[in-house]
Amino acid sequence: MTDPPFARGSCRCGEVTLTITEKPKMMLQCHCLDCQKATGTGHTSNVYFDEKDVLIQGEATGHSVTADSGNEMTRYFCPLCGSRMYGRNSGRPGLISVQVGCLDDHSWFSAQAVLFTSRRHDWDITADDIPNFDKMPPSKS
Ligand SMILES: [Zn+2]
Ligand SMILES: [Zn+2]
Repeated sequence: MTDPPFARGSCRCGEVTLTITEKPKMMLQCHCLDCQKATGTGHTSNVYFDEKDVLIQGEATGHSVTADSGNEMTRYFCPLCGSRMYGRNSGRPGLISVQVGCLDDHSWFSAQAVLFTSRRHDWDITADDIPNFDKMPPSKS
C-alpha cells in the first residue's frame, strides 16, 4: 500500500468509505440508459481500479442487472443515503468501477473515451475530441 493512498472517498453520509492505493487502470464516461436511470443524470464518469487496490469499509447494497452486452452489472450504493459508489461487471473481472464524484479529490480525472454516445442528449455535453463509441467499444481485455 502506498502512503498516503492514491485516493479516498465516501458516500454522502460517510457510512461507506473507499481507500484506493494505486492509480486507475482507465477512465470512461458512459451515456447508456442504465447509467442514466441508475444515477438520474445524463452520463456517469467512471474510474476503474484493480480490485485489490480498493479497500471498501461499510456495507454497500448491490443491485444487479443484465447489461446489453449480456454481462452482469452490479451497482453498489449506500443503503442509508443512497449515494451511488461503485460497480462490478462480469465482463471486466478484477476491476471495480468507481463513480468518480464519491472520491474526495478527483482533480486528476480525465476521460479517455465516451461510451454509448448514441444515447447522449443535446443538453449533456461530454468531450468529442477523445474516442467516442456509439455503444460499447469492442472488448479486448
Ligand atoms: Zn451513505
Ligand atoms: Zn453506462
